[in-house]
Amino acid sequence: MTWQPVDCHAHSTFSDGALTIEQLVECAAARGVKPSVADHISRDVSRSITSIEQVQVYLDTLDQYDVLRAGEFCWHDSLWRELPAALVRRFTHRIGSLHAIRLPSGTLVHAFSKRAPEGLTIEQYMDAHTDTLEQFAREMPVDIIAHPTLVTLPFRSIDIDTLWSEERETRVVNALFDAGIAFEISSRYPAHERLVQRAIDRGVRLSLGSDGHTREQVANIVRPLALTRKLGVADEDLYDPSRHGSKTGAQPHS
Ligand SMILES: [Zn+2]
Ligand SMILES: [Zn+2]
Repeated sequence: MTWQPVDCHAHSTFSDGALTIEQLVECAAARGVKPSVADHISRDVSRSITSIEQVQVYLDTLDQYDVLRAGEFCWHDSLWRELPAALVRRFTHRIGSLHAIRLPSGTLVHAFSKRAPEGLTIEQYMDAHTDTLEQFAREMPVDIIAHPTLVTLPFRSIDIDTLWSEERETRVVNALFDAGIAFEISSRYPAHERLVQRAIDRGVRLSLGSDGHTREQVANIVRPLALTRKLGVADEDLYDPSRHGSKTGAQPHS
């Protein structure tokens, strides 16, 4: 069988996506991509799955389609901690997101806030981002970190060399390697190439994710795949839950 890329991260109308499951599956098939649905499962996203009962309905629905069953869980929200093990096992793979990071004071800084807390410097913010990512990797049982370089809106246009130092990048890839969490190459929030190269050099697995919400975006992983190929990553080594398993899912993790 010829290799097919997997879009490990796409949203449907179960959360904030525009496509039904059926449309999402068709859309991926038209692009020659294996689909997975990864809706938001969090009480801190405005259109999201917000209860254990809703997770049950979501998984029951996904079972009726030929599609990988994922979820995008916010680290800073507690819903993922409350899911019963029997439900957790039904996901083919699970994605963790830092949609907020925690400052040493305990204050959360949300990725989509329009204003940063008064007086917060970029250095302090990025140190907290790195600390939070290390904590996330230690405690959250997920297979993929979504958009690892997503930073809060007020800092999003700042250049990479100001945000990222060699030390921060090394800490990030070490934390992901130690935890066995794949680094998402996102169509939506692309990571800079130097960090992707560092992840590869450390032996961190990479995962393709459109983070698509619309027909134009879902399963459109052309740019992430071009990057992994340019950097010499074998297609077969890109994360595919049906080949590599999941830390918490029905299939063993390899
Ligand atoms: Zn996200
Ligand atoms: Zn997403």
